[in-house]
Amino acid sequence: MTIEERLDEVRTRIAAAAREADRTPEAVTLVAVSKTFDAEAIRPAILHGQRVFGENRVQESHGKWPELKAETPGIELHLIGPLQSNKAAEAVALFDVIETVDREKIARALAEEMVKQDRRLRLYVQVNTGLEPQKAGIVPQDTVDFVTLCRSELGLDIVGLMCIPPADENPGPHFALLAKLAGQCGIERLSMGMSGDYETAIAFGATSVRVGSAIFGHR
Ligand SMILES: *Cc1c(COP(=O)(O)O)cnc(C)c1O
Repeated sequence: MTIEERLDEVRTRIAAAAREADRTPEAVTLVAVSKTFDAEAIRPAILHGQRVFGENRVQESHGKWPELKAETPGIELHLIGPLQSNKAAEAVALFDVIETVDREKIARALAEEMVKQDRRLRLYVQVNTGLEPQKAGIVPQDTVDFVTLCRSELGLDIVGLMCIPPADENPGPHFALLAKLAGQCGIERLSMGMSGDYETAIAFGATSVRVGSAIFGHR
């Protein structure tokens, strides 16, 4: 299958999963995860109408996205990988949405950079729903306080929560937990679901799904 065909199939399945959950297809945004693929491989997806993309490394994104963004207006680029504070300036300059805010140090660095660059990004707080030691994200019980700090003290535009459930577990309970935490924070957007489980995530209320290999193929 071509990238265009795979993109069509993912779009069709997103729409079906949304309807199944009594939601409208437009309520779910597809974030096409293009990490490890070069500009040449990404261009067909853009030509096929895809505008929202996710990348997990700042450095790698710098090598391809300034050019791709210059070619096509209206691209929205999401950072979905861990961010170090020494990369905050670069990240604020290149990305439109950062989904991986998970500690005070990075929240402060982003707040400072956004003022400096006069750019206001939408942000998600990443939650480590599985309490995995090797995984980024704030622990569930600290989420409400952290979101309050980001919003009230730092003035950040926290629009959503994001999670990556443990690879070897049923993702449903993790999606449900993220939705519950969002309710407690008064947050509307939920970034959850990848190639293997995006339909499940939509059933649990995902407003965006991050799909890579189902569109671009194996990495
Ligand atoms: C790579 C990645 C994805 C996409 O994973 P696929 O299984 O290829 O769809 C989604 N979210 C994050 C945070 C990722 O790093």
